[in-house]
Amino acid sequence: MNIQNYINGEFVNPIQDNWLDNYNPSNGEIYGQIPNSSTEDVEKAYLAAANAFPSWSNTNLEERSSILSKIANLILEKLDFLAAAESKDNGKPISLAKSVDIPRAASNFQFFANAITQFSSEAHESVGFNAINFTLRQPIGVVGCISPWNLPLYLFTWKIAPAIAAGNCVVAKPSEVTPMTAFLLGKICNEAGLPKGVLNIVHGLGNQVGEAIVSHPNIKAISFTGGTKTGSHIAKIAAPMFKKLSLELGGKNPNIIFADCDYDKMLATTVRSSFSNQGQICLCGSRILVQESIYEKFKVDFIQKVSELKVGHPSDSDTDIGALVSAAHLQKVKSYIDIAEQEGGKILFGGKTVTVKDSENGYYLQPTIIEVSDNNCRLNQEEIFGPVVTLMSFKNDEEALSLANETKYGLSATLWTNNLNRTMQFSQKLETGIVWVNTWMMRDLRTPFGGQKDSGLGREGGFEALRFFTETKNVCIKYQ
Ligand code: NDP
Repeated sequence: MNIQNYINGEFVNPIQDNWLDNYNPSNGEIYGQIPNSSTEDVEKAYLAAANAFPSWSNTNLEERSSILSKIANLILEKLDFLAAAESKDNGKPISLAKSVDIPRAASNFQFFANAITQFSSEAHESVGFNAINFTLRQPIGVVGCISPWNLPLYLFTWKIAPAIAAGNCVVAKPSEVTPMTAFLLGKICNEAGLPKGVLNIVHGLGNQVGEAIVSHPNIKAISFTGGTKTGSHIAKIAAPMFKKLSLELGGKNPNIIFADCDYDKMLATTVRSSFSNQGQICLCGSRILVQESIYEKFKVDFIQKVSELKVGHPSDSDTDIGALVSAAHLQKVKSYIDIAEQEGGKILFGGKTVTVKDSENGYYLQPTIIEVSDNNCRLNQEEIFGPVVTLMSFKNDEEALSLANETKYGLSATLWTNNLNRTMQFSQKLETGIVWVNTWMMRDLRTPFGGQKDSGLGREGGFEALRFFTETKNVCIKYQ
């Protein structure tokens, strides 16, 4: 199936008529073409967005909210179709696309359909000066949204929904590796009656289309989710133009397990937090740190549970681990298994590619557990972003905390303990934007989401996202 750009409510070919192949990760075959767009396509999308802005930014909140709700409902109506498309494009198990990715895309629209009707601003009465200040939070104009391939529609809509709810018009680029559901979203937006030009989707390469969006002088804010290196590159381009930036970047998240935790619950969740979506979630707990007294028991039980996971074709309903997203990414992840061997890491389980019947050229890898002894090894410091976790033991709270924080990343941390004082100590001292205690990836869309250190800049979610996508202006009125 061929994909087109979505500009001014219409589906159009790229101006220069250049195309890229779209691969199916489950079998390595090309199954369609996508626009290899250029700066000219981005300019066309910008003009459509700029043209739509005066009217959309003045559309009353009830109407905006109702269109967003319609989009959410249409996503739910087409859940099975969208989930199948996502699974085919990305390689993720169909069960995951059905239970997480697509429902969450609908929730993103529904959440911001509601949130915008509750978004308000402050007033400050300057008592004794006969003056009142009030704050306006106005839409910015045309904004750029750039998203990665791991949770394609989920993360794409997480940016677009608050941007348009707040009255902006958008030029968006999904990852070139997983463009399909973004393309289908354009059709849904038309069906829901989203006015022309409010959302424009330009497909193509990051260093062309993405860079053209970031460099565009009149695209005033950029919301980006992706790798830390790309985020840093974007920041360098955007900073001299004083663009607003929201950067959700990489992670190397610790999963800290104390002996006093609810063991069975921890074990089941740790399997999930390690290998969901083939480990390709920025929030996966890729460094498992276990208290010495239960380390050997955990090792045996964890290996047992992981050995029961089924690596298989993404469309099989009982598949736990599908295909990695691309041949290049599989190579990258595999290279870390070689690095482990060079660094003296001990492969406790996995480490090999898997051949799936009738899909021999798909990008499959066993879930892999590697025991390491030095937190400074590359395996524990670099983001692998695949089905590979490391195990390491610690003696006490102090050591656990320093191991957890000893990384340039600071996205999330998971803590397993039933000790309240420890929970509070770690919550305060962990250098991350998100801390989960006795759970993982439990998301309440009202909460701030984002990372510290090299994991990013700014927070998304709830009113934080609406604040990002609006310009704040204080008005001070003096009266007699
Ligand atoms: P990339 O940084 O390679 O790409 C992300 C997006 O940016 C893609 O759409 C990409 O396009 C585009 N892009 C690439 N180069 C540029 C550029 N020079 N200017 C503008 N845009 C560009 O990340 P991946 O797609 O590989 O995604 C995986 C990364 O995302 C991991 O590091 C992961 O941790 C992070 N991530 C962070 C999350 C968070 O919330 N903190 C959530 C999910 C993932 P193209 O694909 O065409 O190259």
